[in-house]
Amino acid sequence: MNRDELGRLLQRWGEPAYRARQAADARRAGAAGWDEVTAFPLALRARLVEHIPFRSMEPQGEVASPDGTVKWTLRAPDGAAVETVLIAHAAGRRTVCVSSQAGCALACRFCATGAMGPGRDLTADEIVEQALLARARAEATGARLANVVFMGMGEPLQNLDAVLGACDQLADGSEGLGISPRRIAISTVGWVPGIARLARHPATVRLAVSLHAADDATRSALMPVNLRYPIANLLAACRRYCDTTGRRVFIEYLLLDGVNDAPADARRLASLLRDGRFHVNLIEYNPTAGPDRASPPERRRAFQAALRRAGIEASVRRSRGADVAAACGQLALEPQTVQAARPSLK
Ligand code: SAH
Repeated sequence: MNRDELGRLLQRWGEPAYRARQAADARRAGAAGWDEVTAFPLALRARLVEHIPFRSMEPQGEVASPDGTVKWTLRAPDGAAVETVLIAHAAGRRTVCVSSQAGCALACRFCATGAMGPGRDLTADEIVEQALLARARAEATGARLANVVFMGMGEPLQNLDAVLGACDQLADGSEGLGISPRRIAISTVGWVPGIARLARHPATVRLAVSLHAADDATRSALMPVNLRYPIANLLAACRRYCDTTGRRVFIEYLLLDGVNDAPADARRLASLLRDGRFHVNLIEYNPTAGPDRASPPERRRAFQAALRRAGIEASVRRSRGADVAAACGQLALEPQTVQAARPSLK
């Protein structure tokens, strides 16, 4: 719900100030519409149904993959639309991947959202609603929403006020959804001013940085943002973040066939990350309409082994939901774009 708008409406109707809080409480408790806000008199519930949508974004369809991934499309009254993905893990745990912008201005070559171009920033409430939707689905299947990752559409550090506002609503405490901040991860393209701001924020969320290359020429070809914030600046900002927060930074590295996956790239990456507090997540490329292909499994294993030999912690992040265009980098509101590029999928 749009709480500002709701507050103004309730005030106009002469309702007591605590009504807005009651509505927020009901939403956090899982109410799906005004008729489920049981703290309100029936007449008020009915009047609200007529005047203001309970949700700020309405789910407009979903697709599910046999691997347990569910992807929703959500649309706001102004037409802005995003996708949200629920990812299933063993042991009844679920992760929600939320979007922070309805599009993306950063144009990374491998990312379908980047190909959409810029869209508007989401509000904190619009971000939180994605998690609420995912939590309701998780609980309906006997599972628990344990993690939130800002790895959907958009660049979270370009919309940091709303993202931090959403984190505050998601995190523990009487006002929050009870998700531990350590189980909230913000992934950035490497937006340096945002990293500095995040370092000063009290929430102990995790930071993931999409590096994807170990030299500036390769990174700039993949990610135009590198022309503005090259690798040395970015890693300096990450080191300052580690020093200020005492937390390590997760480095995301997408392995692209013949582009950034040679043994020399692994050695260069290891030397960049030496004496830092980094953990590398090697990511399998999910097909998009872009020119790239995934590294073959043996090259991926060799890359990981080379990093480990150099003393850098590295894990491989397996792709989920690619068959329904719900995997990282595939969120573009257009399943057909991805379908066209899918022959390499099983
Ligand atoms: N803008 C943020 C968060 C969104 S993308 C960022 O750049 O980090 C979340 C992650 O998915 C990023 O690491 C991104 O680089 C990665 N990604 C983008 N396209 C991908 C693709 N086609 N396959 C796999 N991962 C991809």
